Amino acid sequence: MKVKFWGVRGSIPTPPTSDQIKKKIRKFAQRIVEEKISDQHKIDTLIDTLSPVEAGLIGGNTSCVEVRADNKLIIFDMGSGLKNLGNYIVKHDQNTNGLEIHIFLSHTHWDHILGFPFFAPAFFPNNKIFIYGGHPNIKERLETQQDFRFFPVALHHMKAKKEFIQLKHRTSVEIGNVTVKNYPLYHPGGSFGYRVECGGKSLVYATDSEYKDLSKGNINKYVEFFKNADLLVFDAQYTFEEAIHKEDWGHSSALVGIDFSIQANVKRMAIFHHEPERDDFEVDEILHKSINYKKINHPDADLKIFLATEGLEIQL
Ligand SMILES: [Zn+2]
Ligand SMILES: [Zn+2]
Repeated sequence: MKVKFWGVRGSIPTPPTSDQIKKKIRKFAQRIVEEKISDQHKIDTLIDTLSPVEAGLIGGNTSCVEVRADNKLIIFDMGSGLKNLGNYIVKHDQNTNGLEIHIFLSHTHWDHILGFPFFAPAFFPNNKIFIYGGHPNIKERLETQQDFRFFPVALHHMKAKKEFIQLKHRTSVEIGNVTVKNYPLYHPGGSFGYRVECGGKSLVYATDSEYKDLSKGNINKYVEFFKNADLLVFDAQYTFEEAIHKEDWGHSSALVGIDFSIQANVKRMAIFHHEPERDDFEVDEILHKSINYKKINHPDADLKIFLATEGLEIQL
């Protein structure tokens, strides 16, 4: 199973500002001075060792994750990251027979659907797009988004065959040898997590979720859903302190994700749905604090924690 992140930001697409870029350049320049590097070769070597936080971007597009398994193309959420994924699909996958594309929605808040009007594969009449969600009236919600008052191209002008499937809660869908199970999460208006299994590998996509009741009775159901996942994509928009102050805003923190991951024996956890108010260094600080928290509280656990960044690809 291959997983690729196309949109990792929460709430609203967030392009980098000039000041943020300058901050990166300044830090890099400081390192060159401190390490007394003067020749170009050493500068190039240093650049090659820099992380996306130092020399690239964590990414400003909103939620969109691509999964390829058993030759099936599955997408989680249609945030602004879907536009680039669509362009990639047209360039690399599109054929005259048409494609089958399966899209699962966590929910229909703007940041999870606004990429669809720009999803190029939806304009190919031979393509078939299945859109699944745990909410009712998904088609109507997308039609409203593309109402002429808000967008010039109506949903029915996107000529791919589209099928809208309302999922029964806590049930599974089989796509070839891939199983996708949904689970309701706590979020304003409700959200759904998905567990994907194929060939003995598993991914859990659990974004836009708050875990306010951390009593054993309540968390067990999530631990069960995350159990033994090879990768857990976890809504960590807030710091632990913010999550306490922003009760009922519908998001969680990496520290809660770590506790869940340890209990559920998750192998890797991706910090996801980054707060749009934070620059890359501030998001990176959340990662470092998370790694520290894990070291102190769960020193023997194998869990690997990392930032979901745009373009990052993981083979499970
Ligand atoms: Zn969101
Ligand atoms: Zn939401």
